[in-house]
Amino acid sequence: MTLAFQGIGIGSVQAIALGPALIDRGGQLSLVQAEIASEEVPRELARFELAVEAARQSLQLVRAQIPRELTEFIDAHLLMLEDQVLLEGVRRLVADEHCSAEWALQRHLDSLLAVFEQMEDPYLRARRDDVAHVVHQIQRFLSDTASLAERGESELSGYVVVAQDLMPADAILLRQRGAIAFVTEYGGPMSHTAILARSLGIPAVVGVHSISRYLRAGELLIVDGHTGTVIANADERILDDYRAHLRTFAARQGRLGALVQRPTRTRDGFEIQLQANLELPEDVELARQAGACGIGLYRTEFLYMNRPDLPDEEEHLANYCAILSQLEGRPITIRTLDLGLDKHGPAFKGSGPNMSNPALGLRAIRLCLKEPELFIPQVRAILRASAFGPVRLMLPLVTSIHEVERALALIVECKRQLDREGLAYDSRMPIGAMIEVPAAALTAAAIARRLDFLSIGTNDLIQYTLAIDRLDESVNDLFDPLHPAILRLIRLTLEAGRALPIPVGMCGEMAGDPRFTRLLLGMGLREFSMHPGALLDVKEVVLGSEIAALSRSVDHLFEHLDEIDPAQFVANLNAL
Ligand code: PEP
Ligand code: MG
Repeated sequence: MTLAFQGIGIGSVQAIALGPALIDRGGQLSLVQAEIASEEVPRELARFELAVEAARQSLQLVRAQIPRELTEFIDAHLLMLEDQVLLEGVRRLVADEHCSAEWALQRHLDSLLAVFEQMEDPYLRARRDDVAHVVHQIQRFLSDTASLAERGESELSGYVVVAQDLMPADAILLRQRGAIAFVTEYGGPMSHTAILARSLGIPAVVGVHSISRYLRAGELLIVDGHTGTVIANADERILDDYRAHLRTFAARQGRLGALVQRPTRTRDGFEIQLQANLELPEDVELARQAGACGIGLYRTEFLYMNRPDLPDEEEHLANYCAILSQLEGRPITIRTLDLGLDKHGPAFKGSGPNMSNPALGLRAIRLCLKEPELFIPQVRAILRASAFGPVRLMLPLVTSIHEVERALALIVECKRQLDREGLAYDSRMPIGAMIEVPAAALTAAAIARRLDFLSIGTNDLIQYTLAIDRLDESVNDLFDPLHPAILRLIRLTLEAGRALPIPVGMCGEMAGDPRFTRLLLGMGLREFSMHPGALLDVKEVVLGSEIAALSRSVDHLFEHLDEIDPAQFVANLNAL
């Protein structure tokens, strides 16, 4: 039977994938409440027998490793695995009622536990836990509960991974081990996991509540990151539609490919810089292929993930130099680490998901200023890398000029150290900051006076201005880049840069959404940085735009911002 689920699509360019499901329980047991077709009964019974055998072998292994006086507990469990009341009841539910083996086990367990509840004898009643334990053992083997990190390439390659939630570090693992898409039950489209999926070109749908309860391992899934739909067991007609969609996508990519060599200039002659955001060094190639004129945001925190220790200065330097050599003279903006929120490494002590509110906690520059030993090796490495090519250093999440000044003082101190040690760096390396907190946008003029450039991080700017947790899918529909408050803050930041002048770019997801390109051009944005997959779509819009006309329309919008609906305005602008 075809089942369709709705979540939130991660609209990367390559947003559709078809493949078998791998249901990641993250080591946790979760039940599949599924009915099976009559022809699947023999296969389901065989799965059940295999799981009983696997449970038996694992108990025997444990028995062989524990002191003799404790073996009687294990023996009791082993005996239960032979108990025909237990096993036959499950087989009957599979054969007669077409329950999946996991679900049959759970139903049978529930009825046995109800019997235990009636017993007067406390000793016998206590045996209920043993029965439940044995049943869970079998369910574990049925559900294949290895954690993601334990799964190698052979297990993940070609699969659509379905998980309750995934951390950015998991998304990297999935990509490296060949998974073709992922679906999560929780998470918003602006989480770093979703941003990574977009950037790495992994089709994904997030926020599909309880989906893993209805899927079985190996079932064919269609993941549609455009519409946010996940379809299980699609019939031939639906499959044909999606295959046609993939062909159309390939044809469009071919057409867009012809734009790579064209200069990024508007119809009235304005040069626009389209740069790429980078998460993993190996993706520089994607940026080059899309014709990016540089890297506008290198999220270095991914250097800290999936490892037990911290990278040292030399590792940072080697990483940056490897990217610089691939960029062949194009510039890179290296953001100092932005750990915290949903990004954290095992070696990192700051605010993680266990803090009461990681988004407002010890994150990014706050963490670096509090723990300079995290910051200094990276700053020294960025400075040293600047001797090898055009590098800019960018500070994340600044909130006040005091933070900027403290960070600048540490950078000056690093320069002094390098001078003393005779290590080369570019003494004029530009230093900038992300404007992604409303307080920073409102004081952008003062912040800009201390720096060489600014870059607007709309993902956090929207989160903090509209009080919307970017990780929480239940408020995702309120995440509105066109909210007048957001537009005013962007405008303020652009004006602050223009007044000095210093360059102001944008590297949040809004910069890579072609629906907003004309609006942003009209507001005065000239430097966009985005995931490489979006670059040619945005370029197509730039090539067809005329700044003079857009500026006039946008000025009109700002004069009447409280009366005009910005969404309607943008729709009209895009239709011009
Ligand atoms: C942003 O907040 O817009 C941004 C680019 O930074 P990140 O998504 O890494 O928090
Ligand atoms: Mg941010």
